[in-house]
Amino acid sequence: MLAMVLRRPAPAASGPLEAADLPDPAPGEGEIVLDVAACAVCRTDLQLCEGDLVARRLPVIPGHQAVGRVAAVGPGARGWREGDRAGAYWLAGADGTCRHCRAGRENLCERAAFTGWDRDGGFAERLLVRAEYAARLPEGPADVALAPLLCGGVIGHRALRLTGIRPGGRLGLYGFGASALCTIQVAVHMGCEVAVATRSEAERERARSLGAAWTGSYADRPPWPLDAAITFAPAGDVVAAALAAVDRGGTVAVNAIHLDRLPEMPYEALWWERSLRSVANVTRADAAEFLELAAEIPVRTAVEEHPLEDANLALARLASGEVRGAAVLTAPR
Ligand SMILES: [Zn+2]
Ligand SMILES: [Zn+2]
Repeated sequence: MLAMVLRRPAPAASGPLEAADLPDPAPGEGEIVLDVAACAVCRTDLQLCEGDLVARRLPVIPGHQAVGRVAAVGPGARGWREGDRAGAYWLAGADGTCRHCRAGRENLCERAAFTGWDRDGGFAERLLVRAEYAARLPEGPADVALAPLLCGGVIGHRALRLTGIRPGGRLGLYGFGASALCTIQVAVHMGCEVAVATRSEAERERARSLGAAWTGSYADRPPWPLDAAITFAPAGDVVAAALAAVDRGGTVAVNAIHLDRLPEMPYEALWWERSLRSVANVTRADAAEFLELAAEIPVRTAVEEHPLEDANLALARLASGEVRGAAVLTAPR
């Protein structure tokens, strides 16, 4: 199979991924093999390829938003048959026995494994997935339309839930990439008034077309105090801007696996029971819940497609901010 392999992190513009011809994976106990049709490219993949997110093993195949069909079922992999539509996302496995797992928070499991970080991911024609962690996908939506939902959509949904926002509430979204694009559609569906802050005028325009009641830059303040905000931009200063815009009792959820730093700020920024929290990974329940909701709304995504072998180009475009919506790699047919 063709796979785009990361051997040594390097700037995206220099092409850190190498095309390799690898043997097809065979499913072990409790595993299934997916024929990958599409895999979206996430900012986390970019951070891994450039070394901002330290690789857990090298070489590794990145990619954690893969959509495909089951090509082979290993022994003990219950519930799946060849030809079923399935997806792989960030959570690749958890121990199921630690205090976090038993409390329904497998996203916090210290022995959790992640797709495209601990295990090889979806920038390949075939992908091994633990059957219990594969996502069941609806028939209907195109492969390239489903793929970006599997990371940005799912984690944005978790962030939205963690902010405690209620239907009709005032929500701020700071940064407007692939994840925020999904999140705004859920928030608008909930009847929320949504403010979107982003550096790019094109993104502000897109936010308005998706129902944002207000758009501005990070330095601007929405015209009304926010009940909650989610920051997507991987910059600490944006967190301070979001915190300044939330009302008393409001929550800011930081949706970033990697952040440069948090700026020093006066305690008044947090006073009046404002909360600041991070959002770490996702659970299987997050994925199942969001995928059902996304089909019902339905959540639409803007995608640009690239053939799998052009993964370096997709990374470079993501790094330079040229991708509109989400970049999706498609397997050769
Ligand atoms: Zn991701
Ligand atoms: Zn655990």
